[in-house]
Amino acid sequence: MTAIGFIGLGNMGGPMLVNLVKAGHDVKAFDLSPDALAAAVAAGATAAADAGDACRDVDVVVTMLPAGPQVRSVYTGSVFDNVREGTLLLDCSTIDVATAREVAQMAADRKLEMLDAPVSGGTGGAAGGTLTFMVGGSPNGFGSAKPILEGMGTTIIHAGGIGNGQVAKLCNNMILGATMIAVSEGFVMAEKLGLDQQTLWDICSTATSSCWAMNNYCPMPGPVPTAPSNRGYPAGFTAAMMLKDLKLAQGAAQDAGAATPMGAAAAAMYGLFCQSGDQSLDFSAIIGMIRGELPKN
Ligand code: NAD
Repeated sequence: MTAIGFIGLGNMGGPMLVNLVKAGHDVKAFDLSPDALAAAVAAGATAAADAGDACRDVDVVVTMLPAGPQVRSVYTGSVFDNVREGTLLLDCSTIDVATAREVAQMAADRKLEMLDAPVSGGTGGAAGGTLTFMVGGSPNGFGSAKPILEGMGTTIIHAGGIGNGQVAKLCNNMILGATMIAVSEGFVMAEKLGLDQQTLWDICSTATSSCWAMNNYCPMPGPVPTAPSNRGYPAGFTAAMMLKDLKLAQGAAQDAGAATPMGAAAAAMYGLFCQSGDQSLDFSAIIGMIRGELPKN
């Protein structure tokens, strides 16, 4: 049993914490949202008074926060000042590569091991304990983190040095954003040309256009019963979060001099969707905009 402090109990962090408790760990939890904290306590965690308290007397700190600014402020404002020597720091949020590397360097300056360990698999993967973790950091740190991460995921991959987990995640989500739009365009085109959506899915899901957006998370209601499209597009993974990741990917691509025109188009389309509609909807709701419907406000 490991003593773990867990900060950030939202759509992802909430169910991830539940699996750490089920794996037998002693988890101290904190979130700014009292409801999220109450749910964690109901699942068997102990409530911390604040983020600093969640980090005191634990072996591992796990954070699952919205973006770089929250990660920076939680680590510099709470984590670094409260952890004991030897505490392993795991940030599972999706953030920009530069912030991941800077905060990890601040940890190293304090002789603390920090890894970036963003995830793929969505809220279903978080609930089912089947997430993929892409981990950046030292081989030793990875060795220590792996048994903890195995309580929340099934595929744990060492991506290289600090920040490389975020590089892998941004590439993954840039591909996902572009493929979600492409799959949506296919279904809307088929609809207008008189091809039934189930037939299109039966063909494409086993043909060369098969991909996660098609096979597991179809934006058109019907073919994939578990997809948000069948329930009015509750998130899941919000359009706002997808836009955040696409912007991060564009920033990283520019820094590296990588040409990413499809990624740029996906960022522009999600920008339009978020401006004109409900950005708290699941990102697969972009099919409505492609169909020419005004997004829900
Ligand atoms: P979310 O908004 O549901 O949860 C974030 C939580 O962090 C909220 O409960 C919020 O109250 C809390 N929080 C924010 N600032 C805080 C602070 N200073 N102290 C304590 N708690 C604070 O977001 P999410 O969907 O759980 O995503 C979290 C991260 O995981 C993001 O970086 C996202 O990009 C990434 N991610 C999400 C998904 C998904 O499908 N939702 C999939 C993969 C990765």
